[in-house]
Amino acid sequence: MDLTTPLTYVKGVGPARGAMFEAKGLLTVEDLLSYVPFRYEDRSNLKVIGQLAPGEMATVIAEVRAARIAGFRRRNLGLFEASFTDASRAILVGKWFHGAYLEKVLAPGMKVALYGKVEFDSYAGQLTMLHPEYELLSGEDEDADSALHVGRVVPIYEAVSKINTRALRVLAHRVLDSLAPLADELPADLRRRLKLPDRWTAIREVHFPPPESDLRLLNNFRSPAQFRMIFEEFFWLECGLALKRSKARTLPGIGFQLHERVREQIKAMLPFKPTGAQKKVLKEIADDMAEPHPMNRLLQGDVGSGKTIVAAEAAIIAIENGYQVAVLAPTEILAAQHYFYFKQLLGKLGYVLVLLTGSFTSREKGQLKKLLAEGLAHVAIGTHALLEKDVEFKRLGLAIVDEQHRFGVMQRLELLQKGLHPDMLVMTATPIPRTLALTLYGDLEVSVINELPPGRKAIITRHVTADQVERVYSFLKKQIEAGRQAYVVYPVIEESETQAMKAAEKMHAHLSREVFPEIPVGLLHGRLPSDEKEAVMEHFKRGDLKILVSTTVIEVGVDVPNATVMVIEQAERFGLAQLHQLRGRVGRGAEQSYCILVTEKLGQAARERIRALRDSTDGFYIAEMDLKLRGPGEFFGTRQSGLPSLRVANILRDQEVLEIARREATDLVAHPPSEEELRRVVAFIRDHWQRRYGLVTVG
Ligand code: ADP
Ligand code: MG
Repeated sequence: MDLTTPLTYVKGVGPARGAMFEAKGLLTVEDLLSYVPFRYEDRSNLKVIGQLAPGEMATVIAEVRAARIAGFRRRNLGLFEASFTDASRAILVGKWFHGAYLEKVLAPGMKVALYGKVEFDSYAGQLTMLHPEYELLSGEDEDADSALHVGRVVPIYEAVSKINTRALRVLAHRVLDSLAPLADELPADLRRRLKLPDRWTAIREVHFPPPESDLRLLNNFRSPAQFRMIFEEFFWLECGLALKRSKARTLPGIGFQLHERVREQIKAMLPFKPTGAQKKVLKEIADDMAEPHPMNRLLQGDVGSGKTIVAAEAAIIAIENGYQVAVLAPTEILAAQHYFYFKQLLGKLGYVLVLLTGSFTSREKGQLKKLLAEGLAHVAIGTHALLEKDVEFKRLGLAIVDEQHRFGVMQRLELLQKGLHPDMLVMTATPIPRTLALTLYGDLEVSVINELPPGRKAIITRHVTADQVERVYSFLKKQIEAGRQAYVVYPVIEESETQAMKAAEKMHAHLSREVFPEIPVGLLHGRLPSDEKEAVMEHFKRGDLKILVSTTVIEVGVDVPNATVMVIEQAERFGLAQLHQLRGRVGRGAEQSYCILVTEKLGQAARERIRALRDSTDGFYIAEMDLKLRGPGEFFGTRQSGLPSLRVANILRDQEVLEIARREATDLVAHPPSEEELRRVVAFIRDHWQRRYGLVTVG
């Protein structure tokens, strides 16, 4: 047996279990060993019932004597009681609230291990354990393996379908028993410096901690063995990323010249004084563009921090060097809006801009494509339509992707392939801690705008329940009388816009006819033809419409500084990041802005989201809360977003390990101890990268 042996070859894994493992992505012995315990219990204090002392944590092995759902008065609590006995003939009573399901599990005569805190019920004169952990000790593996389950620090695994922690423990043990000691692939010097246990020791101790183990460290994932495995997983990932980056730095690319004319044009374009943060990131971008290698840069900045103007500056650098620029946006509305915004900024410099979205006729598209292919248009702004095969550029020099989390890695590549090693700038308004960004976006360099334009007042966020909506209306009315504008937004339900659209239509009718008959109210949703969408946006922008009732099509990017109120209906249905994005549609001018969250039914998770939102307007804080509430997998979306799949490590919990791993990896790639060592690392990564991290290319 070795690490690559299929799990189905392991004794005790038949076709049924094999299929359950496979459904979880566990195929080989190595996969099983990477499926590490999520918790440990110290069951080394093995006692007989007669020796138990109240107050101690202890494990006993005992037989079920009687079991029942307790007295009819307490029936609705579903209190389940079982009494246990062992060779000492003493009795221990286990109690489980909401334990009715145990009736089918614990039957008289069964042998079990119980682990928990011993108490003395003086009323009944009994030793008890409330909610003890239990494990059935009958069946196939009793004799050979029962020493695995009690009398030691015991690993607890998350069940894999019907394969419970006990079965997993037996399998892990069996596999470790049949393997020859594993070689250690980490550089020896690194291991020595960081005092890491060797790989074989680490793997065994993660599954079966030695007797003197510190339970607290274990349950915080920081025992030396756990640390080593987490570190290792990050380390190889970071080595791969570092190799990718160092390779990118040797690729031929465009070295844009930052000559005098570029400066003049930027000056002529700027409608306001850039903030310090905007200046800083522009310098990072410009320096990067000047390098004769392709730029690969992520621009992070909270909603409203002013990323667009920085993108426009980068565009000028490219255009003044004789190149074209592509701007990719996730929605038609956003593409259209960028088009108008960029046109305002860049049109006055004499540049030609085109907008290309799916809703143009093929004849219109044909004409626009011709302009691009012949190099007559300098900037192309569009949606996915830009990625179509027959969209060609004469000389694409800079690709800009807005709201990059809406696009996958493949789409970024498709865009890049329209030029010869063009530079790329991707922008996101979902800010995350830097190390995380550096890892998740792998080979991207990161620039951060951490400052809002001057004169912004913090948005005031209020939460009201649906029955108080009249108060919201009268507030809206006051704001509109004061010359402001407002959004009222409905959630998209279950991926389909239809219901949200209906809700929005109904609300639009209600508001425009009954509540605000004398105020112009517009309606925007994804099903409108795109010229109608644009017209509505345009009217709202110009201030002809005072209230815009909308589905979440306005979630990203929309910029109307005079709008000061964002009312979000059924706010409990939105995710945190989405709420923050929506709120970011207001607070874009000098006036005080408000975000009003209206909720109907508020569950626990939604309550926490709303609290986070009321507590803070800081996108970094919100993103971290969101990550915590939802977990990295859901937060970052599908695999196509480029998120590496991690097994042992957890990108949130283990951030400080990630930082160490990244430092060590970067260092190793930059200053390898020897050519041979570097070759070994490269080969190792080539062999393991895709299997381990689900990432397709090392480059
Ligand atoms: P986001 O980062 O969310 O894309 P935008 O680029 O849309 O933000 O900018 C938000 C608003 O702030 C826009 O109306 C923009 O014109 C304005 N803005 C950006 N930078 C500045 C600045 N330095 N001074 C004043 N207003 C600015
Ligand atoms: Mg934007």
